[in-house]
Amino acid sequence: MILLDGKSAAEAMKKDIAREVIRWCKESGRRPHLAAILVGEDPASLTYVRNKENDCRQVGMDSSVYRLSSTISQEGLFECIRTINEDKDIDGLIVQLPLPDHLDEQEIIEAIDPAKDVDGFHPVNVGKMVLGLPSFVSATPAGIIDLLAFYRIPTTGKECVIVGRSNIVGRPLANLLSRKGSGGDCTVTLCHSRTTDLAKVCRRADILVAALGQPHFLKANMIKEGAVVIDVGITRIADKSTKSGFRLAGDVDFEEVAPRCSYITPVPGGVGPMTRVSLLKNTLQAALKRNQ
Ligand code: NAP
Repeated sequence: MILLDGKSAAEAMKKDIAREVIRWCKESGRRPHLAAILVGEDPASLTYVRNKENDCRQVGMDSSVYRLSSTISQEGLFECIRTINEDKDIDGLIVQLPLPDHLDEQEIIEAIDPAKDVDGFHPVNVGKMVLGLPSFVSATPAGIIDLLAFYRIPTTGKECVIVGRSNIVGRPLANLLSRKGSGGDCTVTLCHSRTTDLAKVCRRADILVAALGQPHFLKANMIKEGAVVIDVGITRIADKSTKSGFRLAGDVDFEEVAPRCSYITPVPGGVGPMTRVSLLKNTLQAALKRNQ
């Protein structure tokens, strides 16, 4: 079994991005700039945004965080997005999700300028991605594709089963893995909570992706011998023995499943770092496009 080390892969990719950023800065006279809107004080969201700022710094990009109260109105949030959309010095914009319940997430995503939508959630980018046109691809599915490519794991003709059909992970990933050409050409089955006999479907998979948000859900009896297993799940579990008071758990029962796999991602240190590096790639792409 080989561990798919997303941390090392992401570090290698960041070096390439940093080189490209230097080249772009010389040409444009400024640095690519990622803006993040953070609504409220959700601890996980605070950590994610802080990590994104650090990542930007590491590759020589600028970043800024717009911190808004958890009671902000929909119109107030629109106003902030409009300001950033119009700011010529900002290349990429993300709104950290989830948002408080009183805000309409879909409407907020649709307010972002598609040319700055580096999360790839805007319907324009989703539509282009589905049609195979150049677009921002959402960070987690793009990171998974890059991780498979980094380890030269073949996808052509492989049976791929994805558990979880969310708009940010499962659904776009199903699209990317089934598209024609390099990194695609899989036969994809997309599963969800209504799938009949999930274990039987999972056992068909040469490449199995768990993205359901249920800690340790995938057990050894759901895995074909020699499968590649990608664990997207991140759930915070209370743990008094750690400094932070919690630990991160994936959707795969790693101890049980790892011995049956050819490759498997750890949690943390697998898909997470690849997601973050995809956001940097998209921000650089946004900056490059604005200079064309
Ligand atoms: P989500 O929007 O909650 O969707 C979960 C999906 O899993 C749904 O399609 C749901 O089915 C399905 N599901 C739930 N329980 C199931 C079960 N018992 N059997 C089969 N399918 C089941 O989740 P998400 O936003 O995609 O996130 C999934 C996990 O990935 C979470 O732990 C999240 O924190 C993590 N995540 C990690 C990264 C990263 O960078 N590593 C990025 C994004 C998300 P229905 O549609 O039928 O309800």
